[in-house]
Amino acid sequence: MSVLVFAELDNGSIKKSSLEAIYYGLEVAKAKGSSVTVLAIGESSNEALAIAGKYGATKVLWASDARLNIASIQAYSSVLAEAVNATSAEFVILSKSSLGDAVSARVSAKLKASIVSNVVDLPDFSSGVTVKRSIYTGKAFATVALTADKKVIAIKKNAVNVVEGDGSASVENFAPALNDADFAVKVTGTHKASGQVSLPEADLVVSAGRGLKGPENWGIVEDLANALGAATACSKPVSDLDWRPHHEHVGQTGIKVSPNLYIACGISGAIQHLAGVNSSKVIVVINKDPEAPFFKAADYGIVGDVFDVLPRLTKAIQAS
Ligand code: FAD
Repeated sequence: MSVLVFAELDNGSIKKSSLEAIYYGLEVAKAKGSSVTVLAIGESSNEALAIAGKYGATKVLWASDARLNIASIQAYSSVLAEAVNATSAEFVILSKSSLGDAVSARVSAKLKASIVSNVVDLPDFSSGVTVKRSIYTGKAFATVALTADKKVIAIKKNAVNVVEGDGSASVENFAPALNDADFAVKVTGTHKASGQVSLPEADLVVSAGRGLKGPENWGIVEDLANALGAATACSKPVSDLDWRPHHEHVGQTGIKVSPNLYIACGISGAIQHLAGVNSSKVIVVINKDPEAPFFKAADYGIVGDVFDVLPRLTKAIQAS
């Protein structure tokens, strides 16, 4: 048996969330006396992929067929299923993401595998294989038993504390046969929906709400985001009012983010907003109302006016 991790790439490099999946795979492999193979699909380089070794992989299978440079769900699912067969993997680990969700569902159907998503902890092997998954937008957990021979586990971002080692993985070409049906749906081009940093993947997020009073004031939010290299986000009313585009809206009805740092500026902290941000590692709240509910969910709070606090914070970060 072996452990196979599907690594997503961003500009040829393995995404941070996939490095977490590799590290999770390493912990599973240790428990089973096995090793970790990574599958990477699309444009990259030997050097960029060998990094997987620092997180526990011994080998990377690289499917570098040029037709795979733009993600095709069918083709990626076929390649992953072939890689599972080629490595006789019992465990397939990947990160929970829109691509991960689409691919893992198809692969588990092809392989008749047990599948579980939003996993927040390592498997328990004391009686079969059980895992803990987050449900109801992080309000509760469910323990799920994986009973099929093959098990697909999609882990929640930031659920694993990764420890970087100094290993290097070997990189091997992987070229399963693909046919026209694998490319029946063709993505002919992609463009980034938001600013410089993609919101669902962002490590740092600066988010603002109705406390900003109007779209003309967003410059102070963008200045802080640029100083930090962060993505920008907003509350629902802000996008409903067309102050910001809808793809920046986070919460129960918007995007769910799990950054290392979420800075909420002039946002009250309604339960529907918190549902999209409560798995952030550190939450900083800036609000002029000391009774704002968001302070209850905050790791750090600044009671103050955003028009005063944000420019000072940006200046301090630029000076540091
Ligand atoms: P407000 O509630 O108006 O809060 C503004 C905050 O800014 C206040 O706390 C105020 O003290 C502070 N403030 C004002 N001026 C300043 C200043 N100068 N300096 C500092 N602070 C200041 N909302 C979401 O965000 N995401 C969702 O996905 C979502 N889904 C929903 C789904 C449903 C079914 C429903 C019913 C609601 C949903 N909502 C969602 C709306 C949610 O309930 C809140 O109404 C919304 O989050 C409030 O947005 P806000 O905090 O920007 O605005």
